[in-house]
Amino acid sequence: MKRIYVVGIGPGDRKYLTGAAARVLEECQVIVGYTAYVDLLKADYPEKIFLTTPMKQETERCRMAFEEAAKGMETAMVCSGDSGIYGMAGLMYQIGQEYPEVDLIIVPGITAASAGAAVLGAPLMHDFAVISLSDLLTPWEKIEKRLIAAAMADFVICLYNPSSRKRADYLERACDLILQYKSSDTVCGLVRNIGRMGETYEILPLGEMRNKKVDMFTTVYIGNRETREIGGKMITPRGYRNV
Ligand code: SAH
Repeated sequence: MKRIYVVGIGPGDRKYLTGAAARVLEECQVIVGYTAYVDLLKADYPEKIFLTTPMKQETERCRMAFEEAAKGMETAMVCSGDSGIYGMAGLMYQIGQEYPEVDLIIVPGITAASAGAAVLGAPLMHDFAVISLSDLLTPWEKIEKRLIAAAMADFVICLYNPSSRKRADYLERACDLILQYKSSDTVCGLVRNIGRMGETYEILPLGEMRNKKVDMFTTVYIGNRETREIGGKMITPRGYRNV
């Protein structure tokens, strides 16, 4: 049977690659992915065939993987973090309908939300909502509705894709919507370059976060009503009594 592994490689360097993902990468012949992520792997697997496409060419990237697998090559499609969380797993199944002879095996990875949470302390101990601020594939009105709904329900909110050059004010817009339902001293956190060189984090109130300039290598955390700062870390209580 011909098959493609759709592999989440975690947020950064090898220490966050799962054992299962490492094994697939060792055993496959071809590695397909977005140029920046594939570059992270080239030094570790110099004998593999690497095929890349830039951002926004996801459909072409998927077809490339299916063509390799159809030729009989053991193929891995890699994504950062988890392959099924804003990754390539869904599109691979959709395009896979044209390649019924190829089986897909999804290999999960550590997503930015959990890796960044470990840097901040324990911000995701209770119910949380993950929302991407990218409006490339989702209309902004829908993103606004989800932000408002999550804020109304007092979820901890984790934001992916908080900004880019064309969307410099999206975090500010998101914070202003959330500020209608959460107080300006809600404990928030930012983590940049999780698991990579230059990893940094900051804990700050929501009222200040709206003025922060962030980039696309940042994951943002907005606490719930109970979230607090303890010893310089961001902690959301789980609800144990007497603490
Ligand atoms: N599949 C990925 C998410 C891709 S969306 C995953 O599961 O993690 C891309 C967004 O994820 C970025 O804009 C950023 O918000 C977040 N992200 C991914 N890797 C990151 C890292 N190393 N450091 C900080 N944020 C990261």
